[in-house]
Amino acid sequence: MVIGTDRALLPEIRWDYEADVVVVGFGYAGALAAIAAHDAGAEVIILEKAPEHFAGGNSRVSGGGMRIPVNPHEAAKYYKAICFGTVSDEDLAVAAELMSRVPDILRELGIEIAELGLPRTRHPASGSESFKIYSMAKNGKPLFEPIAAIGAGYLLYETLKKCVADRGIKVLYETPAVKLIQNPLTREILGVRAKRNGNVIHVKAKRAVVLACGGYENNYEMWINFNFPGVRVYPWGTPYNTGDGIKMALDVGADLWHMVSVEWDCPCIKVASEIYGCAIQTRVVGPLRPRVGSYIVVNKYGRRFMNECKTLVHRKEPLEITYFDHERLEYPNIPFYLIFDEKFRLKGPIVEKTTLGWNNIFNLYEWSHDNSAEIERGWIVKADTPEELAKKMGIDPEGLTNTISSYNRFCEMGDDPIFHRPRETMVPLDTPPYYGVELALTLTNTQGGPKHNMRGQVLDIEGRPIPRLYVAGELGAIWGFVYPGGSNIAEAIAFGYTAGKNAAAEEPWK
Ligand SMILES: Cc1cc2nc3c(=O)[nH]c(=O)nc-3n(C[C@H](O)[C@H](O)[C@H](O)COP(=O)(O)OP(=O)(O)OC[C@H]3O[C@@H](n4cnc5c(N)ncnc54)[C@H](O)[C@@H]3O)c2cc1C
Repeated sequence: MVIGTDRALLPEIRWDYEADVVVVGFGYAGALAAIAAHDAGAEVIILEKAPEHFAGGNSRVSGGGMRIPVNPHEAAKYYKAICFGTVSDEDLAVAAELMSRVPDILRELGIEIAELGLPRTRHPASGSESFKIYSMAKNGKPLFEPIAAIGAGYLLYETLKKCVADRGIKVLYETPAVKLIQNPLTREILGVRAKRNGNVIHVKAKRAVVLACGGYENNYEMWINFNFPGVRVYPWGTPYNTGDGIKMALDVGADLWHMVSVEWDCPCIKVASEIYGCAIQTRVVGPLRPRVGSYIVVNKYGRRFMNECKTLVHRKEPLEITYFDHERLEYPNIPFYLIFDEKFRLKGPIVEKTTLGWNNIFNLYEWSHDNSAEIERGWIVKADTPEELAKKMGIDPEGLTNTISSYNRFCEMGDDPIFHRPRETMVPLDTPPYYGVELALTLTNTQGGPKHNMRGQVLDIEGRPIPRLYVAGELGAIWGFVYPGGSNIAEAIAFGYTAGKNAAAEEPWK
């Protein structure tokens, strides 16, 4: 088949598949886009990069908590306060309205959801109280807290997947989209080039394409250009999100926004995360709920540099870990290490088994209950004295010995005058053997990507919609700076639904 009329400008393309709406990516945003487009009368194909077993993106391994505006007018004021001018007031008002409808959207699909109460993190900004957290529910009971071995995020994904299957929507797994096919004269998006079984295929989108293929958590080149040069991070979610949507959108003239906005979580065990290709998290350092125990975090100089209990989850102020020393031309706190003693080793695993995150959902590595297997593997280094431990780990021995002495003194005093770690969490590090393990930074997700309007249309650098191109989810999320925890899922659902409906309403191209 030939596209367009000007044969000199438009290449001849043989379409392998065709549909009214082509959705790229099958997380929550892709699922909602496909369902909404289908229910509006469109024929839909989903292209998903991962094999079916690993599909579902960050959505499938998420916590499943949704922050829903209960008073959209007030919620928009709060969004304004946290976006710091990166999104217009008018757009934020529409976004709040769209996200307030998420409970109704899910209920109309027959999905039971329930309210958990007020969000944990709030800010002294107008409208901050205008939200409730929801999650999927069973028999009226919210599932946000882990049930059995499965989390609310996983179950929501499985349920949406069933909604997609019940509608007979075709899903092509192991079919990564690589390029958008654009009419160079009209700028319209006509379809998608993808890879399937080692071949290049072309998928015609008669009405529109919706990009819902997640962020760039696993794209190191994007990470060092948009965020922190030289800093290695390990994503907590899917390894399949590699910024493909950003490249495809740039290629057809899209503008980008919110690239600076990334979501941190508790640091992970570096060696294990490197081996398994995803964060295997400590949940000791920077957690939401402080951990009591005989442990500290130090840099290579053997010095503490942070309150180990201060939460890092979704924080936006510069983390102490990423502090850059311009004079020395280094991040003095990277690498950084968790140091603990025998008492803490025996308290339980230094990683937390939760019902979320790639490692836990796919059972890649089961950490031993007393950390002994990881000592045996050499992941955790063991020594009789702090000095010996430091030497084995390449940490300054004098620095570490002095730091442990002063930390123990602070424990006796019941006060950490330097970093203000809560006194009730401080237990002296005094029972040999001593242990150390290198940590690394962890991300839940990135927020940046193609800029879009509130209809979900991707905008070019002059603010004009690129015809027949929509986007949804964490790929170009609206969170311009501070992120209100629980909002990525609400957004993926609201904007997936909106983009799908609007894509289906396009007139087919000639
Ligand atoms: C552990 C964890 C817990 C979280 N908990 C919460 C929470 O409780 N509340 C909350 O609001 N947010 C949470 N988040 C964030 C939230 O889950 C995500 O931002 C949201 O689910 C993203 O949905 P999405 O559909 O945009 O992307 P994803 O769910 O990541 O889906 C993207 C899909 O696109 C596919 N893909 C990638 N490239 C291509 C390509 N080239 N072609 C085709 N397919 C492609 C991927 O394989 C994937 O299936 C959490 C994240 C993580 C990692």
